[in-house]
Amino acid sequence: MKERVSIARIAPGATIGILGGGQLGRMLAVAAARLGYRCHVYSPDADAPAAAVAAETTVAAYDDEAALTRFAAAVDVVTYEFENVPSGAAEIVSRHVPVRPDADTLATCQDRIREKAFLTGIGAPVSPYRPVTGADDLSAALAAICRPAVLKSARFGYDGKGQVIIDADTDPVDAWTRIGCRASIVERWVDFRMEISVVIARAGDGTMAAYVPVQNIHEGHILKRTIAPAPIAPVLATAATDLAGRIAEGLSLNGVLAVEMFVTWDNRLIANEMAPRPHNSGHWTLDACLISQFEQCVRAICGLPLGLADRHSDAVMDNLLGDDVNRWPLLIAEPGTAVHLYGKSQARPDRKMGHVTRLTPRRDA
Ligand code: AMP
Repeated sequence: MKERVSIARIAPGATIGILGGGQLGRMLAVAAARLGYRCHVYSPDADAPAAAVAAETTVAAYDDEAALTRFAAAVDVVTYEFENVPSGAAEIVSRHVPVRPDADTLATCQDRIREKAFLTGIGAPVSPYRPVTGADDLSAALAAICRPAVLKSARFGYDGKGQVIIDADTDPVDAWTRIGCRASIVERWVDFRMEISVVIARAGDGTMAAYVPVQNIHEGHILKRTIAPAPIAPVLATAATDLAGRIAEGLSLNGVLAVEMFVTWDNRLIANEMAPRPHNSGHWTLDACLISQFEQCVRAICGLPLGLADRHSDAVMDNLLGDDVNRWPLLIAEPGTAVHLYGKSQARPDRKMGHVTRLTPRRDA
């Protein structure tokens, strides 16, 4: 386990560099601005949603060492808003300026083989799995873990991309071809009762603040709805929060982390994956908490005290995917609905264009 170190305070007025220019970077930059920070977005895409709200933008590729070095020289701390930023880019930047969460955490979370090994190493419950490097390997692994299973590419998988479901009849050679003959893991299919996640912030001095576990409903592998809090027993909610805390501690996290978990029919938790950044399942915190996941991230990486992660209301967050965004005139006319739009020009199918949050009084208050 890495050492606990206090980090120097980076005061408001400083510039936060953000690798990646999507909606998470956009909401992070807005939260940073509220606290008096400037943001400098680094994105290969000139039309990035985060660039529209940032003080500065560098448009360059993630392997452009000269551009990364110039970017690093212009900022006081760097974070990233999606975990498929090449860890090489984070390493280059970290030679000049602190990267939080660190490049090692990024490397662990962006490779499913490393991720599962880490989770197993800290004793987190995971579905039985094997790393796979070929079709023969896959056959042997399936014999060990049993079908049904799912083959997931080790890298660059998100929203269900890079996954092949393996049922009783699937030919391993065919599955291996369909995954693109890339390093992968195969894991046993979980017949889950519910999917939940915990978003947790950890400061440089080791203090942590966790939001309440939430239920996530996916359609076609894409998050459609988040319900806060998840309708689970208090003892299970505590176990999920504790598990997220152990993971954050094990990573020596400095920033915000989301841990996605399955709840089985017999009420066991299984860790599925983690993302070392604000997460779609934490968007509700913008409206239902005094301090959102984005502000917690800013506080954590700048060495400020974390704020309360308590919610003042219960919440339901719905993503606006693709053409859903065209409903905005109706949604904005609902007095009790907070509408968030990401400023993306093209509403491609399933593209995350915005989200809405609806609040209700806390049931347990
Ligand atoms: P992931 O990219 O690992 O988050 O997977 C995307 C979605 O696929 C999850 O949110 C689940 O709905 C589903 N999924 C992934 N792994 C499994 C599994 N082992 N068993 C059942 N469903 C899974």
